[in-house]
Amino acid sequence: MSKVSYKDDFPILTQKVNGYPLVYLDNAATSQKPKCVIDAISKYYTLYNSNVHRGVHELSQQSTNAYEQARKDVQKFIGAKKEQEIIFTKGTTDSINLVARSWAINNLKSGDEILISTMEHHSNIVPWQMICEEIGAKLVVAPIDDKGQLIIGELEKMISEKTKLLAFTHVSNTLGTVNPIFDIIDFAHKNNCKVLVDAAQSIPHFKINVAELNCDFLAFSGHKICGPTGIGVLYVKEDMYSQMTPYCGGGDMIKEVTFNKTTYNDPPFMFEAGTPNIVGVIGLSEAIKYVSNIGMDTISSIESELLSYATEKLHAIDRLKIIGTANSKASVISFNYENIHPFDIGTLLDQLGIAIRTGHHCTQPLMDFYNIPGTARASFAFYNTQEDIDIFIEALKKSLKMLY
Ligand code: PMP
Repeated sequence: MSKVSYKDDFPILTQKVNGYPLVYLDNAATSQKPKCVIDAISKYYTLYNSNVHRGVHELSQQSTNAYEQARKDVQKFIGAKKEQEIIFTKGTTDSINLVARSWAINNLKSGDEILISTMEHHSNIVPWQMICEEIGAKLVVAPIDDKGQLIIGELEKMISEKTKLLAFTHVSNTLGTVNPIFDIIDFAHKNNCKVLVDAAQSIPHFKINVAELNCDFLAFSGHKICGPTGIGVLYVKEDMYSQMTPYCGGGDMIKEVTFNKTTYNDPPFMFEAGTPNIVGVIGLSEAIKYVSNIGMDTISSIESELLSYATEKLHAIDRLKIIGTANSKASVISFNYENIHPFDIGTLLDQLGIAIRTGHHCTQPLMDFYNIPGTARASFAFYNTQEDIDIFIEALKKSLKMLY
């Protein structure tokens, strides 16, 4: 187990909750923010708060420089070939909706198919359902096995000449399953099908390289990788832009406006209408610097140790069932205990200062697949420790004794 602890970088983790030192195991919902990110946000508002792109004055130039530098930082971080391939959005949900409204609606017709999987988050289901309803396309769902793994043979059989888009998650937020995206993207492309990767749950855990992945779109949220809420990224492979039109109009996304006709700005600006979340972008860029300094490989290896340790401890609890036992997993563990409602487990743990998440985790169709109302979910970040897990396990045993 790693000896270095990153906890001290996170002011929020030093506090007590309900009289106990906080043990934060809800990282899949949102990550905590290191002091450097909080400071970057505070510095922006204290020293150079100003609107971007339109100002000649000094502060506006500083703000514009920071905003556009952040685009380069994100480009480098995810291995995109060009900074123009980075669109700033509100988050993963917004990024997926952008692809639905700016690409899918123009490129799919009645009878075409969009392929997703059983383990998708609602934000990678509902936008496609809306599009399918509008244009008469069909949403097709690839199955998973009981361990929570995509059945690749079945998925491949479901791709036909009708399939225009495959939209699937890299890592399941509920099960922790890591999907074999290289193979899936490759197979999809051989069948002339575009691919969107929902990287909301992979970006905090692994090094991602979009050029190597060769995906057409990739979406993630800043808040899951130590950045602020309300900021996200849509990576668009450059040649996809020729098939896209903006769906949100307003300032900054135009070249020229007359009452007769408007011409649009070049991408990515064409897709960033209105005053953007400048401070969010600056916070995200600081977060990326922070995790990059630690190293994504180091982060992956710390989290993989935490996952093994916690899985072993949970397995040792009689009658506890882990939901999601894929061969390849990120540091997310969903579990249930007999007929005890996950909410009761979460509530008792909270009284002991331990934050986990309970419920359907925005994956109701997945809950239907397992025929359960929800799960209790503990999710670990690199700043968690073995001690956090020990405290969690002891508290869990105590809670289960009270409930069962
Ligand atoms: N996809 C997955 C796999 C997620 O875990 C989440 C967030 N829980 C989202 C999409 C949506 O992210 P956001 O709410 O930040 O838009």
